[in-house]
Amino acid sequence: GCRLMSAAAPKAIQNPDIKCAKIFINNEFVDAVSGKTFQTIDPATEKVICEVAEGDKADVDKAVAAAREAFRLGSPWRRMDATDKQDLMLKLADLIERDRDYIASLETLDNGKPFLISHAVDIGLTLKCLRYHAGWATKNLGHVVPMDGDFFSYIRKEPVGVCGQIIPWNFPMLMQAWKFGPALAMGNTVVLKPAEQTPLTALYIAKLAAEAGFPPGVINVVPGYGPTAGAAIAEHMDVDKVAFTGSTEVGQLIPQMSAGSNLKRVTLELGGKSPQIVFADSDVEAAIDNTHTGLFFNQGQCCTAGSRIFVEEKVYNDFVEAATEKAKTRKVGNPFTDVDQGPQVDEEQMAKILDLIDSGKKEGAKMTVGGGRLGDKGFFVAPTVFADVQDNMRIAKEEIFGPVMQIMKFRSDEELIARAHDTIYGLAASVYTQNVDRAITMANSLRAGTVWVNCHNVFDTTMPFGGYKMSGQGRELGPYGIEAYTEIKSVIMKISQKNA
Ligand code: NAD
Repeated sequence: GCRLMSAAAPKAIQNPDIKCAKIFINNEFVDAVSGKTFQTIDPATEKVICEVAEGDKADVDKAVAAAREAFRLGSPWRRMDATDKQDLMLKLADLIERDRDYIASLETLDNGKPFLISHAVDIGLTLKCLRYHAGWATKNLGHVVPMDGDFFSYIRKEPVGVCGQIIPWNFPMLMQAWKFGPALAMGNTVVLKPAEQTPLTALYIAKLAAEAGFPPGVINVVPGYGPTAGAAIAEHMDVDKVAFTGSTEVGQLIPQMSAGSNLKRVTLELGGKSPQIVFADSDVEAAIDNTHTGLFFNQGQCCTAGSRIFVEEKVYNDFVEAATEKAKTRKVGNPFTDVDQGPQVDEEQMAKILDLIDSGKKEGAKMTVGGGRLGDKGFFVAPTVFADVQDNMRIAKEEIFGPVMQIMKFRSDEELIARAHDTIYGLAASVYTQNVDRAITMANSLRAGTVWVNCHNVFDTTMPFGGYKMSGQGRELGPYGIEAYTEIKSVIMKISQKNA
């Protein structure tokens, strides 16, 4: 699972004040043009946390105009020294760290994930992401090229311009950092739309960006719904790039909206149905721990959730028994207490998960633990394990995005590769084995953007992340993530005489 970051002793704030619930444009919080608001709900209690300004096309237009003005030639942002840009990003990270208890509490309230995880993992990775990308601001090197003829020629890496960013609810502040980090380091301006389920941390962090000193218009955050505010970004004639993270279904619409408007650049991080493959020659005990967090981490709401677990015949029965016992130990409850699992993000997600659990029962998979909702307040789902899952069952094919583990049996490596590939997705995969030859052969054979060996769900800002097939287009993080936020310009200058 994710390594926990060291931090000062976390102190949860059970009822954090909501300081920012409006649209953030030009470093100011404003109401929606329409005056409309929507409710954000605490998924642990089903209580309304607050009303949030509901952005729509008119608000996106305002935000894009602000971002365009901040990007104009000669603007403070365009003229800013790279070292100052780096300092601003480091300052933003420092302010997030200063308010760590508050922000982690807000994230837990809005999303339902355990506070200790918000504090250690979500904020830990957010800080690393912003600080890593801050360093890129001063290392955006171009090239001088030895082209033929009497020319001086160089390649310059420029910002793409106004970047629209649409993010999901499973890692609200981390997804914001993945989007802000490379965009700001490369000198772009942004209009970000958080998910309607979880708008609160994105807005608070926008406020911190103003406090850090980002010029007005560089960062804009427009909360609202997908088909309205989200689509307005993807269809906008004055947005230069759109980065989307979410479902494959919506991911298929984004390039259409781009093509139908101004051919803005598109990057996509979409769904998955990632295999975890356990060979008999693995350290099976470690594999049980790792496949458990590989599936159950974050209430199962990870695009990389290892939700198809293929186990070699020889160890299959023992594995099913141990995985079931492990699932039984999972503590589910109030995310402000020391639990492993909080509620799912909303009622719709819970209903979708419960429907898929029912389909697993009906289609004849063997349920060894769990199988339903826990309690009747809050969107809690019991950690569930299905064994003897067949490849054609819905639970083996569809992204469940919940705490539901599928275990399947396999006999040979060849059979396994074909079955592992039998999916529209290609986001991630993991292989558990102590045989080096098998580990490398499998890692190189699997069609997935990330392959983990003897681990799962290990993320790092230095390593590119993204999907093969219908799991996405392009990569985020690391040097490849930087490329997605740069335009390449060739400058060819006639000179009187070139000399080597
Ligand atoms: P979604 O794709 O609908 O939402 C993701 C983001 O896209 C949100 O900000 C949403 O408002 C926006 N959006 C929705 N419709 C849009 C449109 N027409 N135009 C522009 N933006 C739009 O995801 P969801 O409905 O919240 O979840 C559905 C499923 O998606 C989940 O069950 C899960 O399988 C998958 N999912 C994947 C990820 C991921 O990280 N890859 C994250 C969340 C959800």
